[in-house]
Amino acid sequence: MTTHYIGRFAPSPSGPLHAGSLAAAMASYLDARTHGGRWLLRIEDIDEARTVAGAAQDIETALHTLGMRWDGPVLVQSHRRQHYRDACDKLGDHVYPCGCTRKEIADSRLGVAADGAAIYPGTCRNGLAPGKTAGALRVRVPDPGQEMEQIGFMDRWLGWQSQHLASEVGDFVLKRADGFWAYQLAVVVDDAEQGVTHIVRGADLLDSTARQIYLQHLLGYPTPTYLHVPLVRHTDGEKLSKQNGAQALDLAHPLHELHKAAAFLGLEMKTATDVAAFWEQALPAWRRRLEGLRAGSP
Ligand code: GLU
Repeated sequence: MTTHYIGRFAPSPSGPLHAGSLAAAMASYLDARTHGGRWLLRIEDIDEARTVAGAAQDIETALHTLGMRWDGPVLVQSHRRQHYRDACDKLGDHVYPCGCTRKEIADSRLGVAADGAAIYPGTCRNGLAPGKTAGALRVRVPDPGQEMEQIGFMDRWLGWQSQHLASEVGDFVLKRADGFWAYQLAVVVDDAEQGVTHIVRGADLLDSTARQIYLQHLLGYPTPTYLHVPLVRHTDGEKLSKQNGAQALDLAHPLHELHKAAAFLGLEMKTATDVAAFWEQALPAWRRRLEGLRAGSP
């Protein structure tokens, strides 16, 4: 058993919890509890354009109904802008202003990163190109031959992962042209300040992890361990998300939703009679699941 374990669930309040977010929440909760650790809740409302009024409260109510209790106060990203500014200042010359439009970046045809964003060609790397005004702030990724050029990590579910930031992502945005701090910076600052040791989340964020490890390195923060759970998909294979109409959980039947998420995670369970009994069974089922993963079963 790990003696020092801090985990977290960090939903964006862009809508109610859906089957995908419940699978991520359940996995991080079970992992924290089976390790005798703390489980924190952080509301990631840094992208205010996507924040839906009342969604954060709905998420908290849903977690309660589902029998998931977090430790300590809820951290809210929109209250923490000064911390992101301070971290960005600390990055000094690693950060530079960029005045390129999305279209200009797409036109450079360097390709598209796994998250769908066009790879940045480095146009403003050595100073703003003539005629451009600073909009976003970007961080330089390592040039070939530099330290951290290739970033690898052992994912506790998916095994060894690695990414070459320069060719697969490019210099990435820390502050967006619309003035909001980017997810990549906010998540790294908050995980470090909250002392998070174990990150368990959905595989949609797998592709962000190398960027986050790189920022941790630049900021002198420790790197947590990572476990990415598979994505719940629509029947057509598309990722379930609030943006493409994922259905909210049916909180009138929490036990049913819990069992569906547990089945998705591959937990072997008998039907529980109530929510408390579900969690009692789910803890050893998660331990067995981890043993299976360690033994090499997907
Ligand atoms: N806020 C992100 C989301 O809801 C999760 C961030 C994370 O777990 O690192 O997709």
